[in-house]
Amino acid sequence: MKIINETLSDIIRICLSIDARAHATYVKFATKCSDESLAEIWRQCAKDEKTHVVFWKKALALSLRGELPEIFEDSEEVKSALQQIDRKVDRLLANFDNYDNPADTLAVAYRLESFMLDDSLMMMFRFFDAGNSGIEAGYEGHLDRFIQSLQKYAETSPQLDALAESLTTLYRRNRKLSRQTFIDPLTGLLNRRGFFNSVRPFTSLAERKKLRVAIIMGDIDNFKKINDTFGHQTGDKVIAAVASAISGGIRRSDIAGRYGGEEFIIFMSIDNVDSLKIVSERIRQTVEKQSERMAGAKATISLGGAVGMIATDEERDLSLLIALADENLLEAKKRGKNCCVYFEREEI
Ligand code: GH3
Ligand code: MG
Ligand code: MG
Repeated sequence: MKIINETLSDIIRICLSIDARAHATYVKFATKCSDESLAEIWRQCAKDEKTHVVFWKKALALSLRGELPEIFEDSEEVKSALQQIDRKVDRLLANFDNYDNPADTLAVAYRLESFMLDDSLMMMFRFFDAGNSGIEAGYEGHLDRFIQSLQKYAETSPQLDALAESLTTLYRRNRKLSRQTFIDPLTGLLNRRGFFNSVRPFTSLAERKKLRVAIIMGDIDNFKKINDTFGHQTGDKVIAAVASAISGGIRRSDIAGRYGGEEFIIFMSIDNVDSLKIVSERIRQTVEKQSERMAGAKATISLGGAVGMIATDEERDLSLLIALADENLLEAKKRGKNCCVYFEREEI
């Protein structure tokens, strides 16, 4: 089911606009700077921003085709937070023409980078990273390079050194907070909290538009034995390998999370029960085929699925659907594991 999400597209457009202006600014800094070592810093910054611009363009295309999930609890709120950053960037860059003054350009870049550390923009990176796009890692690299350059350039100026220091602190704190809140560090998938946070707006949409949704629960088979035989580290690698089978087996508009230790959950909107079967079977087969090569231990997974409509009580209906998928997962274990069990409820 394709759902075109206008607000999400707007949000991505704002991110694109912010990064495009950062890119243009760094290009200008690079061309107008007479200090060659500083010009090199600006060229690198421009190159990094270009990557972001390309990324947002791709994300926007996906969003306009309805291939991204609604990821925010309150996307209007995120949109207005980003609009504020956009305006701050406008004000910062308006009337600036002191291009050949290193301290001034570095200060502008510092302000620009700290705007981009705002929680709403970081949230965008974070969520896209949950789909293993690598954009957050890329952004981290960019900021790292910027801070290093700033420090290098600031050797003679204690003022710039302080700027670099404060940017580093701000960045570390922000990043730690954001990751703890929503992302499971072992797998890069959403954690339980991140999962429910992402799914909630989607269930509202499903309720309004009378969409059928599905939950798939997965649990690695005989995982205790894998831990006991190969050790915890290999166990962790198996969990990561299963997560990658899941990320690779779903569409971008589906939402996957690590539900608990070696348990996973997927939320998807579907046209018919066949797509549920196709997705869970694909995941089951990938785990069976790839776990040994990826993690060094053979592993299999059992999956349980359930399809239903979301009626007026979203929380309750979602819980029911999860309970139903869980029952089917249990049934899959009873049937000998390494299999999928699903059935459809007429109404929940
Ligand atoms: P079943 O086939 O019935 O699922 O059997 P099982 O052995 O997988 O049983 P169960 O699902 O109860 O096992 C969960 C085990 O997963 C227990 C716990 O020690 C282990 N575990 C949970 N979280 C982690 C983790 O993050 N890393 C590792 N290595 N092990 C974990
Ligand atoms: Mg378990
Ligand atoms: Mg298990």
